[in-house]
Formats: sequence, C-alpha cells, structure tokens
Amino acid sequence: MSEVRRELGAVAADMSGGDSQRLLGEQSKKGAHGGNLVSPVRKLPDVEAMSAEDVLRWAYEEFGDRLCLTCSWQKQSSVLVHMVAELELDIPVIELDTHLFFRESYETRDRLVERYGIRLLPPPPLITVAEQHRQEGPNLWETDPDRCCHVRKVEPLLQALEPYDAWISGIRRDQSPSRATTPKVQWSERYEVWKVHPLADWDEKRVWAYITINEIPYNPLHDVGFRSIGCIPCTRPIAPDEEERAGRWAGSDKLECGIHVETPLGGT
Ligand code: SF4
Repeated sequence: MSEVRRELGAVAADMSGGDSQRLLGEQSKKGAHGGNLVSPVRKLPDVEAMSAEDVLRWAYEEFGDRLCLTCSWQKQSSVLVHMVAELELDIPVIELDTHLFFRESYETRDRLVERYGIRLLPPPPLITVAEQHRQEGPNLWETDPDRCCHVRKVEPLLQALEPYDAWISGIRRDQSPSRATTPKVQWSERYEVWKVHPLADWDEKRVWAYITINEIPYNPLHDVGFRSIGCIPCTRPIAPDEEERAGRWAGSDKLECGIHVETPLGGT
C-alpha cells in the first residue's frame, strides 16, 4: 500500500457519515501532471450535481494518470469508453476478465479497442480455470460462488488497482437495490482508492439512448435477453419484467460479485 493511499485512508476513516464521501485528502500525481504533486485536503466539489462528462473531467484533472477505468464489456463499458474518447481523456482501461466471459463480450472489447484505440492494460495474474479446479475443486462457481468471485475478480482487481488512486466504474443506482445508494464519488476502504461512478444516476433507458444516438458498439447479448452480463456459468437471460441483474447468480441470494462491496477482505 502506498504511503499516499494510507494517508487518504486515514483521512476517510477519521470522517463520519456523509462527510466520509465529501473530503479529498492528499494525493500524489505523477507523469503527465508532474511528479509527486501534493494537494491540500479540501472538500469535494458537488459531484452529485455534475453530469457524467463533468465527473470524468473532474476526476481526470484531480487524479491524472493515477486514474483508471474498469470494463467488463457490458453496455456501461460502451458508454464510458465512448465518453472518455470524446472528452479526449487518456485513461487506461483494466479489463475485469475472469477467463469465463462470453465470446460476445471479448468481441465487444475488440470492437471498442478498434474503434476508440483505448489503452488496455495487461491483465493482472489470474490462475487458469483448470488450475482453480485442481486447487479449489470442480465448478467452484456452484459450490462457493463468493470464493470463486474472490479468486477470479476481487484478487486480480486488488493487484490491478495498486498503481492507482482512483477507479472509474460504470455501476448505476437503478441496477439493483444493492446499488441504490451508490454515490458518484466515494472512498473505498477495501481498495484504498477513490471510486468514481459517472453513471450512478443514469437509468437503463438513458444508457440505451446514449448508445443508440452515438452509434456505439455494444455487447450483442443485450439484444437477446441478457440485460446484465458476467461469466458464462453465472449469467442467464431474463424476462422483461425481471430486475436488471436478476439473471446474475439466478436461483441464489447472491447479488454482487464482491468487487463493489465494502466488506473486509478475508479470503471469501
Ligand atoms: Fe466465478 Fe461466477 Fe463469480 Fe464468474 S461470476 S467469478 S464464474 S462465481
């Protein structure tokens, strides 16, 4: 953990309630924004009143090359990749690849890379599915999906975020009750980064309108009932009257893969 992030975490931990999302502590910025520039502790701007584009611009100015974007090649990834390109922000992309994505998701990635020339970072180390079978038993996604998500999503993301102070994600409040209170910017104790959610207040219709108007490549599985898309073993298409994420871990009470929750890390 970097000293800078430790300081940031301490600042956030000292605050209480809503204020824990309102202060920005010291941070270092390297490269394009100059080496080890340290800014004083100050209040966040009113990010909740900002548009998605303004949130991205603000984050880029604030964090510079210590800012990254994660993508799993669902519709939100298409929106954010397009928006970042339109704003001419040089933000690297971390692919949250579990090696268990649908072929259509990888093809969507390739189309977005081709169209926008996004800077895709090398994937963090991840054991193969065959190795996981040997180490943890067969089909871990059936026997212990939380453990499987921890191994294939949370641990790789922890490593991938190590060089960064802030992480842009496409999660939205209306996706599920578990995301209903998502702020546009928040400090993550677990990852020791600021999480930036430019699309937090977008609904699904707005996502589709943006994709359609701007003719952005998107995952074709969305056209055949997959409103939320993850790994093959844990994703199914849903009926129009079901919740957007009802097809993820269907038949279980699992709602989240674990990367967007703040429970302490304990190997699950
Ligand atoms: Fe494993 Fe399913 Fe989680 Fe993918 S979504 S990491 S297959 S439990």
